[in-house]
Formats: sequence, C-alpha cells, structure tokens
Amino acid sequence: MMEAQANGSQPVISVKGMCTGYAGQPVVHDLSFDVMPGEVLCLLGPNGAGKTTTMLALAGELPLIEGEVEFAGVRKNAPLYKRARNGMAYVTEERSIFKGMSLRDNLRIGGVSVDEAVALFPELGKRLGVRGGLLSGGEQQMLTLARALGRKPRLLLADELSLGLAPLVVDRLLNAVRQAADEQGTAVIMVEQHAHKALGYTDRAIVIRRGRVRLDLTGEQARGRIGEVEQAYLTSAGGDADAGEADLAGQHAARSAENNSAG
Ligand code: ATP
Repeated sequence: MMEAQANGSQPVISVKGMCTGYAGQPVVHDLSFDVMPGEVLCLLGPNGAGKTTTMLALAGELPLIEGEVEFAGVRKNAPLYKRARNGMAYVTEERSIFKGMSLRDNLRIGGVSVDEAVALFPELGKRLGVRGGLLSGGEQQMLTLARALGRKPRLLLADELSLGLAPLVVDRLLNAVRQAADEQGTAVIMVEQHAHKALGYTDRAIVIRRGRVRLDLTGEQARGRIGEVEQAYLTSAGGDADAGEADLAGQHAARSAENNSAG
C-alpha cells in the first residue's frame, strides 16, 4: 500500500476543532484533521455516529457551530455547487446519474472523457450506449465515481459509495479511489461500512462514535489493530467503553496538533 504523497505540500483540507449539527444542536464535537494531496482518510463508526453529518459540514452543506474548515488553503463557507468548481467532489450512495440518458452521454454532460472513464472502469466500455437507469447498481456507482474523478477534484468526499453493492464491486470502487489518490494526488475522505475492506485502501482511519473521535490511527496501525478498531466501532452506544477510550481519543488531539505543526 502506497502511503500519502504528502511530503512538503499543504493540506488540501484542514479541519480544526469542528463542531457541527442541526439547528444549532451539536452532533459532532471537536473534530480535527488534515488531509494531504494523495492521502485517503477513512471515517468509520456505527450508525448515527455522525459520519454523514461530518461530510455534509465539510461539503459546506451544514454550518459549523465551532471550529473551522479550510479547503485549499482558504477558509470556505460557500455552498457545495460553488466548491465543485474549486475542485471538491461529493459522492454518496445515491447514484448521481441521469437515468434516461446513455452512459456515454452521462459522461459527456459531466464534462468527463469517455476514454478516461473506460480506462478507470473497463467494464463500462461495453455499456456506453445503455441508458443509466438500465445499468446495474454497481455500474451506476462506477459511472458516478467516474464522473466525479474525471473532473480531477482536489478533494473527493465519498459517503458510503459502496452501500449495498457486491464485494467485488466494492473492491473496484475502492481501488479506483486509491488510484485517483496515488496517480492524480486527489485527497480523499471516505465513509465506509466495510471497515475490513476500506482499511486496505486507507492512509488514516478515524473512528467516530456518538459524535466524538474514539480512535485515530494510520492505515498501517489500523490494519494491524483491526480488533481494536472493530471494538471501538461495534461497542454499543451505551457508553461502557468510554473511560477506556479516553486516552485513545486523546491521541487524536495529539496527532492533529502534530500534523498541524508539521504542515
Ligand atoms: P449512518 O451510518 O446511520 O448514516 P452516521 O454516522 O452517518 O450514521 P449521521 O447521519 O451523521 O450518522 O447522524 C448523526 C446524528 O445526527 C444522529 O443522531 C441523527 O439522528 C442526527 N441527525 C441526522 N440528520 C439529522 C437532521 N436532519 N436533523 C436532526 N438530526 C439529525
């Protein structure tokens, strides 16, 4: 696994003490991290942990209650449609395609090279004339990702891209994300339910539970400590593990401070 190509460059996105939620009520507390060009960060956590809320805030769709988010060195409050032009792409499990339009036209209207999309996902090559709505779920999601990556975003936010898809397709999608990071220098923040699989493609893993960071590990550490990751991930929302996790969460603050001073 190639680690981030981070040497000497500025973070693509820098999150400092972010607190966000709905109608002024915090759901996510004190989240801090940087993502460098070519780095893949995976957000893990049980249902309701605050992963989607985090992604919405990073995309500028939810206001911050505290803290700040800098994207490409500029503190941003612009809504998503403006940020897209600045190189931020946001994909979710809801496939962003035009169902009545052929796969080829879906790419063209997205301003994406058909050749590049087929190079990324060769299986799409035989399906170019097929209407979006008639593609399989996996093909639709490959198209969604090809459209997003074809625009060469500086940052890809991918929220449960592979939800409900077959394991082989999940690997294809995660591979393409890793390839974009390695070859285009795309910074990636992804939320994945498939922790085991996702950890194979990530440089850093943050486990969130009840809106707070419980573990903050490098990809290598997370792969070596999968049992601990799963425990933090799967422990019920009852809170019995909180005391034991205090020091682990403390590592998040220390690690973020370290990254900030290194950047
Ligand atoms: P999942 O894997 O189930 O999507 P998640 O980690 O993405 O979980 P979020 O969707 O971010 O979790 O939800 C975090 C908390 O915010 C939950 O308690 C949820 O009920 C609450 N929440 C989500 N959307 C809203 C909303 N529109 N208004 C108020 N509260 C919300």
